[in-house]
Amino acid sequence: DVQKDFLLAVEGLTVSFDGFKAVNDLSFYVDENEIRVIIGPNGAGKTTVLDLICGKTEATSGSIKFRGQELTHMTPNQIVLAGVGRKFQTPSIYDDLTVFENLEISYPRGRTVFGALTFKRDAAVRERVEAVAETIFLKDRLHTSAELLSHGQKQWLEIGMLLIQEPALLMLDEPVAGMSVSERVKTAELLHGIIKNHSVLVIEHDMKFVEDIAHKVIVLHQGRILSEGKMDKVKNDPKVIEVYLGH
Ligand code: ADP
Repeated sequence: DVQKDFLLAVEGLTVSFDGFKAVNDLSFYVDENEIRVIIGPNGAGKTTVLDLICGKTEATSGSIKFRGQELTHMTPNQIVLAGVGRKFQTPSIYDDLTVFENLEISYPRGRTVFGALTFKRDAAVRERVEAVAETIFLKDRLHTSAELLSHGQKQWLEIGMLLIQEPALLMLDEPVAGMSVSERVKTAELLHGIIKNHSVLVIEHDMKFVEDIAHKVIVLHQGRILSEGKMDKVKNDPKVIEVYLGH
């Protein structure tokens, strides 16, 4: 078997909380340009997996390699700089700022070139903000105060605030929760539009959305993989049906 270069390689990942293994010897691999979805019942360990990858929670054992770099001993900030962006369920946009300003403040400050003329940087930022605004369907809302956006538009703005940092991996926690059907469909379109340059790891409960976006699905149950593969295979797996229908 030829060793493949995965964007993300999780191996033997375990975390114990007072002896309880919320994530238990978990291994999975995410490719470049892939949308991977983690599903599973409440308490399965989905959120904990994302917490481990972004450094919010420290692993008890195991390895998380991102572009070959070991993340398990990095700080959350170092993990962001390594190229992993995470959107939490609770919104973190600034309501009293415009769409443009929300995107602008998320532009990585480290990108500033010393000695570069201010107007040159401003032009680069503006160009990037406009490109991201287009991706998130807010090009004609650039100067709208964020508080006036719909729930769905606020979710997209947050995705935009991650995209502007150009993470190689975006992690999203229930991105379509509370969205209308048309917003959900556009969110799927958004994700398919960005995978040329990014991979996406999503926790999701909305099965319609999962079918729309997932290249592959992981069904997590009691901190382990119950089933994995394409959605049409996974959803017919008797083990999965049993867990979801409660026997
Ligand atoms: P999911 O996102 O699939 O609903 P979680 O990852 O939130 O599941 O939780 C998995 C299990 O780990 C749950 O039983 C939860 O109570 C437990 N858990 C999560 N975080 C902690 C923590 N910081 N301390 C103790 N137990 C935790």
